Amino acid sequence: MAETLHHFIGGERCAGASGRFGDVYDPSTGKVRARVPLASAAEVAEAVDAAQAAFPGWAATPPLMRARVLFRFLALMEREMAALTDLVIADHGKVLEDAGGEMTRAKEVVEFACGIPHLLKGEFSESVGRGMDSWSMRQPLGVCAGITPFNFPAMVPMWMWPVAVACGNTFVLKPSEKVPSCSLRVAELLTEAGLPEGVLNVVNGDGEAVDALLAEPRVQAISFVGSTPVARHVYTTSCAHGKRVQALAGAKNHMVVMPDADLEMTLEGLMGAAYGSAGERCMAVPVAVAVGGIGDALIEQLAPRVRAIRIGPGRDPESQMGPLVTEAHRERVSDYVDQGVAKGADLVVDGRGLRLQGYEGGFFFGGCLFDHVRPEMTIYKEEIFGPVLSVVRSDTFDDAVALTNAHTFGNGAAIFTRDGEVAREFSSRVQAGMVGINVSIPVPLAFHSFGGWKQSLFGDHHIHGPEGVRFYTRLKTMTSRWPSGDHGGSTFAMPTTR
Ligand code: NAD
Repeated sequence: MAETLHHFIGGERCAGASGRFGDVYDPSTGKVRARVPLASAAEVAEAVDAAQAAFPGWAATPPLMRARVLFRFLALMEREMAALTDLVIADHGKVLEDAGGEMTRAKEVVEFACGIPHLLKGEFSESVGRGMDSWSMRQPLGVCAGITPFNFPAMVPMWMWPVAVACGNTFVLKPSEKVPSCSLRVAELLTEAGLPEGVLNVVNGDGEAVDALLAEPRVQAISFVGSTPVARHVYTTSCAHGKRVQALAGAKNHMVVMPDADLEMTLEGLMGAAYGSAGERCMAVPVAVAVGGIGDALIEQLAPRVRAIRIGPGRDPESQMGPLVTEAHRERVSDYVDQGVAKGADLVVDGRGLRLQGYEGGFFFGGCLFDHVRPEMTIYKEEIFGPVLSVVRSDTFDDAVALTNAHTFGNGAAIFTRDGEVAREFSSRVQAGMVGINVSIPVPLAFHSFGGWKQSLFGDHHIHGPEGVRFYTRLKTMTSRWPSGDHGGSTFAMPTTR
């Protein structure tokens, strides 16, 4: 029997009341492992009620004490690490080593947020005028909401709420309905860590719950991570409702491979970035731009490695690549590969139609490798979000940069070269938010900020790190004086320093 999940509102589990449910699959077997309630607008309003009620007390709690709750949560996370990792694998299907990496990256954002007393320190200027001082401080916004994608069930929610809550906000999280289990457990651990009820609420749901959050007047800020069409909708709707919004979106990251690149290092980097997590990463590398004559060697040496990827269920420590998230997604990826073949790209390794013995119902898909992909092809233009690497040939470095910059997405980009001058030129000219030099997956650490350019991010702020603190706080600047005696009289001119 599939387990029936719940929401977590005001410090308690709440059964779904809308009567609508979604299926959560075990992608390795294809079986439904849980039913997740899909919240109505009324249930979203209940979560916002709880968050709104908790806000004054939490905002007035000293940052040091807020940080102590997060320190206790970190200890609980360590205690429960194996179980939390397993929940990620169970819902998503990613392999053990990869899920472990996700958990570490998630934990690092909590560690960053533990430094909030330091991060919230303002600026002070003595004597901006005679006997007059000025200082600035950052204050929380109120109720903030987060809407997250399926591909990082633990990490992406933790890009958001630890920073928001540390800043003194309260939070409503709407995780992906495909992978809700880890966030529900995290909310319980936070209660055990001493987080007051209502500070973090988890509402499960689909577009109906999202639209209720976007229109809810008490929600001050929306953090979204997901596909570009939904990100655009979230951004425009949130703006129309006067909210602060950061909407991180899709990607098609290019890796430029120069003729002088260390071939072995490039191959290792490409394999992990293209096929890790079955390509279901916004920082995956689905496009390798081979400059000069290096394309032949790349293809020759990539093909056997792609064929040799150990594909299996996420819990098997031998597996290097797990299944895709749903059957519908597998069909979508397969359809893209069909289109690539139909348009004349050279399919060097074909992973379509893979069935694993003992896991025949699982959503497995073998690694695919295309050569001679051209910019006008759909497989080049659109995000596939599967284990499909396209090699594009380029004559010169300038052509490779122009190609990368002409793409609609600009999340990450990388270059592999031994030439420092070329690498420096690339990092200066490339239009992407995160750039790797001989690093294929340049995901910033928690104390930097994460975000793309162009159609990969709508809004002004990148996420977590210093940008996260700015996003989840409002700036206030005070000017004060305490004169005794002569006050100087009224002045009708714009005040200036004298
Ligand atoms: P998605 O856009 O389908 O879903 C994301 C969230 O939006 C989910 O919580 C979902 O319930 C909600 N949603 C879906 N359709 C909606 C609608 N019509 N109206 C309102 N809300 C809706 O994305 P996904 O398939 O879960 O995740 C994969 C996508 O996320 C990829 O495009 C990937 O590149 C992107 N992603 C981006 C980043 C980044 O940092 N830029 C990180 C991770 C994933």
